[in-house]
Amino acid sequence: MAPQASVVHGLKAEPKDIPSVDKLLASVPALVQAHGHRFVTGEARALLDALRLRALSAELERSELAPEALKEALQARCAARLAPRIRSVVNLTGTVIHTNLGRSLLADEALAQVMATMNAPNNLEYDLASGGRGDRDSLVEGLLCEITGAEAATVVNNNAAAVLLCIAALGRGREVIVSRGELVEIGGAFRMPDVMAAAGATLVEVGTTNRTHARDYEAAIGAQTAMLMKVHTSNYQVQGFTAAVDEATLAEIAHRHGLPLVSDLGSGSLVDLAQWGLPREPLPQEMLKAGCDVVTFSGDKLLGGPQAGLIVGRREFIERIRKFPMKRALRMSKLPLAALEATLRLYLQPERLTRNLPTLRLLTRPLAEIEQQAARLLPLVQQALTPKFDVSASAMQGQIGSGSLPVERLPSAGLVIAPSAAKGKGTALDELAGALRALPKPILGRIAEDRLWLDLRCLDRDADLADQLPTLAMALG
Ligand SMILES: *Cc1c(COP(=O)(O)O)cnc(C)c1O
Repeated sequence: MAPQASVVHGLKAEPKDIPSVDKLLASVPALVQAHGHRFVTGEARALLDALRLRALSAELERSELAPEALKEALQARCAARLAPRIRSVVNLTGTVIHTNLGRSLLADEALAQVMATMNAPNNLEYDLASGGRGDRDSLVEGLLCEITGAEAATVVNNNAAAVLLCIAALGRGREVIVSRGELVEIGGAFRMPDVMAAAGATLVEVGTTNRTHARDYEAAIGAQTAMLMKVHTSNYQVQGFTAAVDEATLAEIAHRHGLPLVSDLGSGSLVDLAQWGLPREPLPQEMLKAGCDVVTFSGDKLLGGPQAGLIVGRREFIERIRKFPMKRALRMSKLPLAALEATLRLYLQPERLTRNLPTLRLLTRPLAEIEQQAARLLPLVQQALTPKFDVSASAMQGQIGSGSLPVERLPSAGLVIAPSAAKGKGTALDELAGALRALPKPILGRIAEDRLWLDLRCLDRDADLADQLPTLAMALG
């Protein structure tokens, strides 16, 4: 708290006015009862230390040392220390699978399976039929094979791990051929050339940024070649004078030389999104049919499950990948594995997916329904933000997110909020965005063109916005 110029010097507290830890503790018996002596003592000491520092620089008001004020400060401090750092937020950014916001939401069935199996022993690596040791992969391998048509499957922590493991297991110490048009950076530290080096393989680039031909791959194959690799350019698109070699052609080339073809699909939807009028992503089952020997994809992108890296393909290669020592370090934990199994089981009832799988439900929400929601919420938000802001309902363009189909937009609807005063627009918008983030359930929108855009596609319950409007209005004064 900044010192106020108007405060009379005599009202400042001095270090000697600060009570002892014991005295403060004696005033909060219920707090000690609730959280235990050790925790509350630590917080009381830290609180009094902080007050002492402020008293030393003459910044502490006497009123802050009133018994009631001290009690409240300690209670607030304890509550803040015990509050979870990971919290639910309301995603009105327009990006459905938002990496910064935890990507896919888990289905009820996945949550239920986690709840039902994580607080008790389970058969994670125990074969109930034989009574012997089991393999955790077998919990999902059957489902993955059934859904994708693969011979075998294994799973790891995420798709980055899947790619790393595949390259290491099949290409370590040898050469891996990739098109220059597919040397992707997914974000953060995942860049294909670096992954290749980390896996101990030598990257052999072929073709150019915009055009790679079958003959480029053919010419690069030599005695040191371990495999051909295809990387889905999930988060960008090269347009114009382009050429790439499709999987079927590449598979023919690879197999003619006795080499495997590995495909990193990135998102990899297990169902054809075109049936709901959505932009199409390639399916792992199509890649396998085209002749890919190994296909990797994410569990928490379009699949709609927990973080996971799924590896499906021909048994001989999956076995080599599974037995590679690095697999143990990258294996899935039981918690997401339980969620993944339940999520995959939902795919056995494809007609119900848009109801049972939150990611698909949000992606397929009818535009008319979102528009009605915008019309419903408009007067409430107007009431809370007038006269400082002008609020209107508007069509907007969302996106699937997580690198899926980056160029395609999802027609959506929502509320657009613009500062009413021409002056200080940027500050007013930042203040509004900050107040929305400070709500008990933080609301995240998108600032563009001097406006704040709230895309309602992912607003499951009106109440998440409506019930928080009085708090928002108060925060904005
Ligand atoms: C997202 C993505 C990855 C990384 O997957 P994670 O599950 O986030 O580790 C790798 N390759 C491609 C092409 C991707 O789109």
